[in-house]
Amino acid sequence: MSDIQNPAFYDDNKAREALEAIRWPNGVVCPHCGNLDQAKIAQGKGKAHRPGLYYCATCNGQFTVTVGTVMERSKIPISKWLLAMHLMGASKKGMSALQLQRMLGVTYKSAWFLCHRIREAMTTQARGPLGGSGKTVEADETYMGGKEKNKHVGKRKRSNIGGQGKQAVFALVERDGESRSFRIATITGKTLRPVLMQHVDRESTLMTDQGGQYYHAGKEFSRHETVNHGIDEYVRGDAHTNTAECRFSLMKRAVFGTHHSISEAHLSRYLVEWDFKWNTRKVKDGERAALIAKGIDGKRLTYRPTH
Ligand SMILES: [Zn+2]
Repeated sequence: MSDIQNPAFYDDNKAREALEAIRWPNGVVCPHCGNLDQAKIAQGKGKAHRPGLYYCATCNGQFTVTVGTVMERSKIPISKWLLAMHLMGASKKGMSALQLQRMLGVTYKSAWFLCHRIREAMTTQARGPLGGSGKTVEADETYMGGKEKNKHVGKRKRSNIGGQGKQAVFALVERDGESRSFRIATITGKTLRPVLMQHVDRESTLMTDQGGQYYHAGKEFSRHETVNHGIDEYVRGDAHTNTAECRFSLMKRAVFGTHHSISEAHLSRYLVEWDFKWNTRKVKDGERAALIAKGIDGKRLTYRPTH
């Protein structure tokens, strides 16, 4: 799925075959009962049968490649789903529903659903804690939200200045490794501690700024280094949080350049998207799109349309 000219982005049979190859690399699997015995799975043939419809002799069920995924019951053709995955995965700046609507020739409502379901498909299961012996994990926090200083004086809300009225995001980034970010109600030692304990290996070096919120939790790690941003000390040897700040700045540029603002309800999905992009930054666009297509599995029940 690497080339934009790929017939899978335009031809629905080719799209279905491409998705089947990604979802079932070792043969068709029945999504109802888990049967993978190919002798007990038959494909409907002839004009009376819809292409891509399979029958399972174990549970007497029938299915297509989209059953049990975020794509189930969608009226949007598979080819457009695949093209949307490719475009969203390849875009360095993120893609708004409006852009997707224009590029795919679908309604705004369909584009909006595609965007959010594809973000859902980008969710990955955390594989144990980040870091480990000899590794460094940077922790940093930021606020997402409208910049009050850019608004007209009369429209500024006092309560929004500083961190107030914005949404706090906490990110953990392993150097040369993965990023995980979290929506946090308020940034305090108490709220950050459980996240640090669950997601960072104690053998790691923890790298943070000098915020008091890291003081106690920092002692749990093999080493805790801090940088003092207050006196412009951003880098001291290997003591810096530049990786985490880079992770934030990429996301902010994308979110505010493309989406202008994001609602609290959707912030978690954008965090998923930008963690996914960070974590797959070294793979080719085609491989990234295939990873998204693989991620559609079993996500149907966790997704609730918000309108
Ligand atoms: Zn079955």
